[in-house]
Order: sequence, then structure tokens, then C-alpha cells
Amino acid sequence: MNVRDSEHMIAELNAKEPYELTQKLDDADLIIINTCSVREKPVSKLFSEIGVFKKHKKPNAKIGVTGCTASHLGKDIIKRAPAVDFVLGARNISKITKVIEEKHAVEVDIDNDDSNYDFSEYRSNPFKSMVNISMGCDKSCTFCIVPATRGDEVSIPSDLLVTEITKAVNTGAKEVMLLGQNVNNYGKSFSTQDENTNFTALLQKISKIEGLERIRFTSPHPLHMDDAFLEEFASNPKICKQIHVPLQSGSTSLLKSMRRGYSKEWFLNRCEKIRTLCPEATISTDIIVGFPGESDEDFSDTMDVLDKVRFEQLFSFKYSPRPHTPAQDFENQIPNDVAGARLTKLQARHTEILDEVMNAQMGAEHHVYFDELKANGKVSGRSDDGKLFYVEGSEELLGKILKVKVTEVSRGALNGIVCA
Ligand code: SF4
Repeated sequence: MNVRDSEHMIAELNAKEPYELTQKLDDADLIIINTCSVREKPVSKLFSEIGVFKKHKKPNAKIGVTGCTASHLGKDIIKRAPAVDFVLGARNISKITKVIEEKHAVEVDIDNDDSNYDFSEYRSNPFKSMVNISMGCDKSCTFCIVPATRGDEVSIPSDLLVTEITKAVNTGAKEVMLLGQNVNNYGKSFSTQDENTNFTALLQKISKIEGLERIRFTSPHPLHMDDAFLEEFASNPKICKQIHVPLQSGSTSLLKSMRRGYSKEWFLNRCEKIRTLCPEATISTDIIVGFPGESDEDFSDTMDVLDKVRFEQLFSFKYSPRPHTPAQDFENQIPNDVAGARLTKLQARHTEILDEVMNAQMGAEHHVYFDELKANGKVSGRSDDGKLFYVEGSEELLGKILKVKVTEVSRGALNGIVCA
């Protein structure tokens, strides 16, 4: 979502201001640091980065801090780092052309409504498009700062989405990635109109766009994975067979304390349903280890889910206490060394699973959408189920979906040859 927010800011600055992108720091008249605050580390990195930019920038170049850390620290960023010219929260991206004009502007209103805002267009990849379908989050997971930085959930009207995706398709994108904190809660609330719709209906509507060949989305919430949604996922040929199902913990009691709204059994049931309806689908997940109160038994439940589902991709982290969240005040915080040991064990087991999954790919054939030319004479793309592929080739492969046979496997990517 931050990448898409960056694209929106670039688009607005390109269209309404005399700015264009540069990769050279000493060329820049405006430096924007678009931040995350889900974990603590990127937040502490922010201030050291501001120091580096301040030292090396052109004398009159402006520095802006945007995104979730901007939302939660607000004017304190300028107090701590007066070199910063403006602070723009994640929910206020449409105001980028306004804040660059005002010295020390701070716009961090989490109730700001951009759901009907007509952003100018910019895509970092001409062959793919990212589209926000909702903003904010209506959940209150006890570890998560996002509702405090991105505000309550509001869906973007489906007609606007169809118009935006159609425009992207007409300018070369065959694939769209639908974005939201909880995409499959789409349609629960709109700010300006009532639409009787949901995510499954949205997928059906978007599928009708001529020329659009692939639909991806992230992230769905396990709680809202009803049968109708999973059946649409499995049967709609335009929907890529890759699904993110964020677990967080395999322990039902910990999930309760995290306020995730589902149990271990429900999670396993949903994954089993995906595997049954769509055996070719890959499932990825997020796991937090060392959440306050996590016992050895709770952690064993997480390991058990890992072994049962055999996620193809795992994003795993030690619990990081965040401001504005209840869990930071929970008793039984887990010592760092215990959380670290659990993370190592979890990742080691996942590596074994991943090796087995990837080794089984030798000789397999996939349809790959090529979208990036690499410096080493290779072209990269993704299979329908999300695997990263490299083949020898040139720009003539770009924008094409071709059958590729796997000739070499590694954990992160597959090398292959285009089938005749
Ligand atoms: S669903 Fe939970 S983890 Fe996801 S953004 Fe909302 S509060 Fe955060």
C-alpha cells in the first residue's frame, strides 16, 4: 500500500507541479520519505535517514515525511528534526501538492476521506497496475498500529475502480493488484453512497474488463473468507491462484488475545478448503512470534499450523510493541532471546518446506507474465501462482504471458526456458 501511495504522490506532483523523478540525491528539489510504522525498526531508521538527506541535499531542497510514521508522530517529527519541511499522514496523500507549499505543514487527519479522490496517473511498472479498493481498517488487532495511522475502513466505489482499472488496461497493464488492509471486507462501508456489494461481487465485476488477464489481491482477512469468496477465487480463471492468509498465531487463545476474530480450527478449515477447491494455489502467511503471553504450547500450535498448511511463503517477525496499541501494556512480555529462538525454529522449518516445494518444481511448466528487464540479460516475471521466474531474453518478452519450463530451482526464484 505504501508503494501505491508513493505512486499517487508522484502522479500528483507530475501532473500538478513541475516535478519529475530523479534517482540522484544531489539533483532533487524535493525528497519524500514514505514511512512504515508496523514495526519499530523502520521508525528509528527514519531520523538517521533525515540526517543523511539533510547533509547531502541541495541547499534549498525540501524534505517531507509521509506515511504511517508521519501519521503517528505528526508534528513531533519536525520538533525532533527541524530540517523536515512537511509531514503528511498516510490517509492524506491527496494533499501532497498543498503541503509542499507551506513551511512545516502537518496534515495527519485519520478521518480524511480520499475514497472518491481522482488521483492523477503514474505506474512504476507499465505492465501491472496497483489499485486501492479500500482505505483504513475496521479491526482492532491488539498488536497493530494501522487503525491509528490509516483510520477507519472505507471502500472506494466499484464504478471508480472499474474506470481506473480500464484506464490501466488501455495503457498496457494486463494485471491488476487490488489493495486494502482487509480486501475481502470490501463493501462494508462507503463514505458517499450505499452500494450493496461485497468483495466476491467486485471480483466478478472487475473480471469483465476486456483485456485484463490477471487479478491479484492483498490482503484478505481469514475471518471474511466465506465459501462464496473461496469458490470465486478457485473458479474464476482471471484470478491468480496465489492467496495470502495471515495467520499471526496458531494458538486460539493467543488469537483471542490478539483480537483476530478466528480460531486455529477456522484458519485450518479455510486453508483446507482452498487446497480442496484449488490444489494448484499457493498460500502465503504472516506470523508473529513472541506475542505477550505466548507459551511453549502456543508456539507449538503455530508450528503445527505451519506443518499442516505448508505455506509457500512466510513473512515472520518477532513481536514489536507499538504505540497506540493495547498489547504494548500486556503483562507477560516475552524475553527477546526466547522470541528470537522461536523465530529461528519457525524459519528453519519453513526453509525445509520451501526447499521441498521448490525442488518439486523442476521440469514443471507455468504461464509467466513477463514484466521486467534485468541488467544481466534476463527477463523476470511471475507465474499465475506467484512464483518469480527468470529467463534469458530481451524486451520483446515484456508484456507477454508465455509458457515456461523450469530448468533450475532455488529458494527464491526459478530459472526457465520459454516453451516453443
Ligand atoms: S486487520 Fe488487524 S493487523 Fe490488519 S491492519 Fe487491521 S488491525 Fe492491523
